[in-house]
Amino acid sequence: MVKKVVIVGGGIAGIYVLRNLLARREEVEDGLDLTLIKRERSGWVSTCGLPFALRGWYEIKRTEINEPKFFLDQGVDFRTETEVTRLNLDDRAITLGTGEELSYDYLVIATGRKPSVPDAVLKSELEGIYTFNNELDAEKIEASIAGAKYAFVRGRGIIGLQAAVAFATRGLKTTVLGGPPSLLPSSLDPDMGEMVKKWLEEKHGIRFILERKEITGVKGDGGRVRAVIVGEGEEIPADVVVIARGMKPNVELALDAGIETGESGGIVTDRALHVKRGRSYLREVFSLGDCTEVIDGVTHRPRLSQLASTVVVQAKVIADNIISDIKAQPSLYSICEPCLSPTVAEIGGLLVGSVGLTTEGATRAGIKTLSGVATKLVKARYFPGAKPLTLKLLFDAYTHKLIGAQMVGESTVAERVNEMELAIRAGMTAEEMRNTERCYDPSLSLLIDVTIDATEKAIGITPVY
Ligand SMILES: Cc1cc2nc3c(=O)[nH]c(=O)nc-3n(C[C@H](O)[C@H](O)[C@H](O)COP(=O)(O)OP(=O)(O)OC[C@H]3O[C@@H](n4cnc5c(N)ncnc54)[C@H](O)[C@@H]3O)c2cc1C
Repeated sequence: MVKKVVIVGGGIAGIYVLRNLLARREEVEDGLDLTLIKRERSGWVSTCGLPFALRGWYEIKRTEINEPKFFLDQGVDFRTETEVTRLNLDDRAITLGTGEELSYDYLVIATGRKPSVPDAVLKSELEGIYTFNNELDAEKIEASIAGAKYAFVRGRGIIGLQAAVAFATRGLKTTVLGGPPSLLPSSLDPDMGEMVKKWLEEKHGIRFILERKEITGVKGDGGRVRAVIVGEGEEIPADVVVIARGMKPNVELALDAGIETGESGGIVTDRALHVKRGRSYLREVFSLGDCTEVIDGVTHRPRLSQLASTVVVQAKVIADNIISDIKAQPSLYSICEPCLSPTVAEIGGLLVGSVGLTTEGATRAGIKTLSGVATKLVKARYFPGAKPLTLKLLFDAYTHKLIGAQMVGESTVAERVNEMELAIRAGMTAEEMRNTERCYDPSLSLLIDVTIDATEKAIGITPVY
């Protein structure tokens, strides 16, 4: 009998489960009946490409890789601008806003995230204040840039900073509000975050307010925002305001259905991504993406990841497990590896990368660290255009195993983040990292790379310069 798979959510998480199942549909003898439901009117959108569209590098429309028709033509019941109002797990059905019920053999929950909006902003009906969560938000922000002189961003994470760079690049005087002590606190220690702040101040003229202050009011005229009030009454001009602070998992539907959420606020799953209700994990209901809790690869504690790079792995695991279950073939079953959340971002010409724990994350988990920071060119000093990179490595003080890496530079960041991820997964110690050979060509690398210097500093050995 044809098996029905219903996917709730058409962000990158829902779309990647669909793409995996479409690619593997032929493996299921009786076929798969695939349904995807989402609120937006789009098909498959690369959310990660939106900040660069705002910078003017390409049109927002270009981030829609496939329109809904692409999936409809392949026989998918691809429903846009549609709301799911209930998950009826006992009946194996979901209810839509129209009252229609759809039954399923397998249900995938991919309901994503929602930004936390300060109360003063929630109450305001002024035009010009937006979250930055999807292409609809990007379109509204884009439209409001024309004629605007001042921008205000609430949030010092990657999305907030990329939005700030977009505004500054397009000539808006831009202010960013976030907590102390520095930028990108979930990826970088304050000393590394400070480098990013300095770059954005000097190269892009962005002003930062990094204090424990919140937006306490907004002012407007003609129905449009003109200023935000911060803290006790500092008024900052703003013709466009973006709220990009802490994204929360969107779990209302799951909670109403009795599905368990964890200490991070995300949906709890086993490593095969089955959700938990009561004392059992449900064989036919899965969850992934920004609404879902992951297990940290160093601390083994639950947390959120909220990265597209996490999602693509989870989507494969869910497709494996649906197909394994239908075919009754345990050999196809798979599980997610614990999460290290390798992260890279281009922020106004500066590349920022991280993987594993920060010092604060390690302290919270009760891990004492040895750390080493080094700055070096990424290729031979006599090579024109050689740029410096600063690397900070964190090792467990007891085992000397690598547990975190952070870097800021103008090149070679993405590949280094992936290299450090593998080193953490392999459980490499500082001593092993120091005494492992690295490839060399003066036009591409240094004979003694910055990794070796940072490692030696962490274990108290003087590097050879
Ligand atoms: C601007 C921006 C830039 C980013 N850049 C990067 C990057 O460079 N690298 C990276 O790794 N990650 C990046 N991310 C994060 C990454 O995009 C997300 O982790 C990834 O998109 C996974 O999202 P998701 O599908 O879980 O959630 P979402 O994108 O939030 O999608 C949730 C979906 O669920 C639907 N939905 C929710 N509730 C209902 C309901 N009741 N009825 C119907 N539909 C519902 C929504 O309509 C939506 O389609 C970025 C995120 C943003 C916002």
